[in-house]
Amino acid sequence: MSIHADIDRVIITEEQIAERVAEIGAQIRADYAEAKRPLLLVAVLRGAALFVADLARAIQGRVEIDFMAVSSYGSTTKSSGVVRILKDLDEDIEGRDVLVVEDILDTGLTLKYLLRNLASRRPHTLEVVTLLSKTGKQQVPIDCKYTGFNVPDEFVVGYGLDYAERYRNLPYIGVLKREIYAD
Ligand code: 5GP
Repeated sequence: MSIHADIDRVIITEEQIAERVAEIGAQIRADYAEAKRPLLLVAVLRGAALFVADLARAIQGRVEIDFMAVSSYGSTTKSSGVVRILKDLDEDIEGRDVLVVEDILDTGLTLKYLLRNLASRRPHTLEVVTLLSKTGKQQVPIDCKYTGFNVPDEFVVGYGLDYAERYRNLPYIGVLKREIYAD
């Protein structure tokens, strides 16, 4: 059964994602051109896995990649605000230029927690790149240095984003058919 059949509509196409990721990658390369040590991309699992893979290649400069996993919503579609670190970084980030790579900024609660935690490890710089940002939904202000796209306040899937662990492998960002959520 094709996963495409479960999609109600596509919000951001594969081509739009590729174009924007290339733009952001070039911007990041320029912004960190003077850095003494390679930029450390800290991707938040699992949603940002696909984005960081493409972004790292788009940067085309010296980068290192590390991963963190935090608890998410499980199979529901609402933010709980409760965050736990399920997998910590392998690297020590003290003195490093760190760029947190997120899939989507919704309420901002996850990132707020994560940034406070990472800041306490004394990185040289700490910035955020998010592929998607939900318009008007932020409960806590997050200063994102790079944002791919602003999206409406709907539950989206694809390009790393899941619903109950499915649809991460869609090449585009879309909204599921209403009946899928009832499964
Ligand atoms: P926040 O803490 O900002 O409310 O939520 C951030 C996390 O919630 C994201 O990293 C993502 O895992 C999940 N999330 C928020 N909105 C969506 C959405 O529309 N679709 C999916 N698949 N996950 C979302």
